[in-house]
Amino acid sequence: MNFNITLEEAQNLILGRCQPVETEYVDLNHALGRILGKDIRAKENIPPFSRSPYDGYAFRAADTLEASKANPVTLEIIEEVPAGYAAQKKINIGQAVKILTGAPIPEGADAVTKYEETKSNGTYVEIYTSCKSGENIVPAGEDVAIDEVIAYKGTVISPPVVGLMSALGITKVEVHKRPRIGIISTGDELLDITEPLSPGKIRNSNAYALAAYCKELGAEPVILGNVCDKTEEVAMFINRGLAEADMVITTGGVSVGDYDVVGDAVKAAGAETLFWKIEIKPGSPSLAAVKDGKLILALSGSPAAAMVIYQLVGIILIKKLAGWSQVFHQQTEVILKKDFRKASPRRRFLRGKLVMEDGVAYVETIGGQGNGVLRSLIGCDILAEIPAGSGPLKAGEKLTGYLLY
Ligand code: AMP
Ligand code: MG
Repeated sequence: MNFNITLEEAQNLILGRCQPVETEYVDLNHALGRILGKDIRAKENIPPFSRSPYDGYAFRAADTLEASKANPVTLEIIEEVPAGYAAQKKINIGQAVKILTGAPIPEGADAVTKYEETKSNGTYVEIYTSCKSGENIVPAGEDVAIDEVIAYKGTVISPPVVGLMSALGITKVEVHKRPRIGIISTGDELLDITEPLSPGKIRNSNAYALAAYCKELGAEPVILGNVCDKTEEVAMFINRGLAEADMVITTGGVSVGDYDVVGDAVKAAGAETLFWKIEIKPGSPSLAAVKDGKLILALSGSPAAAMVIYQLVGIILIKKLAGWSQVFHQQTEVILKKDFRKASPRRRFLRGKLVMEDGVAYVETIGGQGNGVLRSLIGCDILAEIPAGSGPLKAGEKLTGYLLY
């Protein structure tokens, strides 16, 4: 078992033991936000034919070689083609077709001029400029050419991907199933949210916050309930969770106190512990274990500490399970907006909000940074890293920010 390891070691240990969940087919109109199970390759061009981007006239560019304001070229209008129809006639020397936006370019034509730049009496049209071959013609495949990949396996289906799949006539799409995340809350002090407070008790907020975070990521939370600080009970819940879900997250009882039974419970459940404790603040007392290919991530009970480790470790694990090909956070340099007065003997992550001012990225901390301050995660879209061994920091200090969205 690995004890007191770096964040990166923790991430890699769990990623190495986790495989994406299987795929299923969903209707295109339910595909938004899902993770592609295979590349989407275009079987047709988009658009499928060369078309006019304007209302105007289509003709042979060669006919307009000599055209100028003073010396317009006059062409005979042989047909009109609205969008949705194809020209019946082929364009020959000296001829033009009146064409509307989106209509296919008639055979023989290789240039288009806008109405506004021509003069017509209905039978003939005057062209005032010399056009190049291909001018104002949208070629077939301008958007997507046949055989191109429009979206890769392991990426999120976004609105334009939905649009392009529609253009290709794709009605069903292969996506990863939503991973099911079992959530267990440990602690004798926990009440369910429907219960009135009594001395020494608090309501379980971790399960609901974690469930909400999982949903936000497209996973399916399964709240398994509250369990008291007893090894056998927690072990039973873990096994129930593993049976019902693709992985399990627990909160509470993972530190070194007399009632911190989760480490033992994981063993009693028959799982192999991968690590215990990560060298960061907050959330250092965290543990990961694996049983039959399914992971258990045990987080501190302190709400903010639990959510930060969820963000730094849980999210990448769920993304891997969910089939994402990119699971790590994007990082960017950010400037600390306000002084941070505490020293950081250990590597620390500050909860903050990314604020752009005059093109510079700042991180603004939200509320207190205590382990129990869940409020500090409202609007938190970045975790700013303070290296181990840093003293109190002044505003203006450069930090590395881990982007959460
Ligand atoms: P623990 O990690 O069990 O030592 O708990 C640390 C702190 O988090 C204690 O103050 C607990 O009461 C609190 N806590 C534990 N579980 C939860 C929970 N599910 N929701 C809210 N607070 C919790
Ligand atoms: Mg406890």
